[in-house]
Amino acid sequence: MTSLSPMKSPRTRMIDPFDRHIHYLRLSVTDRCNLRCTYCMAEEMEFLPREEILSLEEIERLARCFVDLGIDKIRLTGGEPLVRKGIVQLCEAIAGMAGLRELTMTTNGLLLDQYAEPLRNAGINRLNISIDSLDKSRFKQLTRVGNLAQALQGIEAAVDVGFDRIKLNAVVLKGVNDDEVLKLADFAVSRNLDISFIEEMPLGHIDSHARNQTQVSSNSIRQQLSDQFQLTVSTESTGGPSRYFVLPNSQSRIGFISPMSDNFCTSCNRVRMTVEGQLLLCLGNEHSLDLRGMLRNNKISDNDLKAAILGAIGRKPERHYFDSNDTQIVRFMSHTGG
Ligand code: SAM
Ligand code: SF4
Repeated sequence: MTSLSPMKSPRTRMIDPFDRHIHYLRLSVTDRCNLRCTYCMAEEMEFLPREEILSLEEIERLARCFVDLGIDKIRLTGGEPLVRKGIVQLCEAIAGMAGLRELTMTTNGLLLDQYAEPLRNAGINRLNISIDSLDKSRFKQLTRVGNLAQALQGIEAAVDVGFDRIKLNAVVLKGVNDDEVLKLADFAVSRNLDISFIEEMPLGHIDSHARNQTQVSSNSIRQQLSDQFQLTVSTESTGGPSRYFVLPNSQSRIGFISPMSDNFCTSCNRVRMTVEGQLLLCLGNEHSLDLRGMLRNNKISDNDLKAAILGAIGRKPERHYFDSNDTQIVRFMSHTGG
């Protein structure tokens, strides 16, 4: 059930059937990427043909509809958002939308040396940068094609530009990078950055490893960290799925994203839109709405689009049921928009 009609003002609040306030949109601007992380993609990927992906104008129009409906935080993601041509202009257009409180991006950092400053100037407040290893050959192995030095250079460029906040994200896999948890936390803390450790989710069929063999729970990562860090639960929330801990005498926070071991769906406040214009109501379910089809019908008005979005919010599922033994969701994270 949604609380308000699309025409209502001053600000619409989208409330789903489980009384959750939906005000956060993860917007995928491409399914393409300059890396091939083993847990995210198969080695051979087929990307969407150009005509199937939304143009920048179409993305902007839909973003505006969402903001009018009460979305106050947008995270641009992908695939790798920085490989999309025109990304800086899109950031500028979205950042200027009345009612938007926060525009953020998740990136693998490889192109930040070139883009950090333009992104900051375009209105990106906060950045999430993914980095799963600080070891050169392991980084290459995990990403299949990545160059660690370039990723590190990207992180330093972002630090130099001075975003409101930068958070590193690391997916932890048993036997692959679980021995680097302390090193990654040290790296973040020494630069006053936040870091979140993420449990791997069974999204998409991969051939590099059996996901049920590489699971590492957030609790076990926290145990490892507590040997070196004094972790105190943080009362602050960034509106995302991370559960944060603060450290004495440090601005850094250490977070855990635990979709497998600690279902956080009761506090879900978000929906996702793929670059094909598919509104995904839940990361772990197939419930969706084809906005591209509507958008490409010339007669459709913004109010029709908003009414359709509101209707879809009324069908948002209660929770996901991830099982690392079974890939129920065949979409890769790079397609969904992480
Ligand atoms: N390319 C950008 C990046 O890597 O930051 C943005 C897109 S990526 C899909 C967003 C986030 O999803 C990254 O932090 C990545 O590590 C994470 N991710 C990808 N596949 C995942 C999976 N199967 N389980 C958990 N996290 C995953
Ligand atoms: Fe690309 Fe990000 Fe997926 Fe890695 S996690 S393959 S960088 S989309």
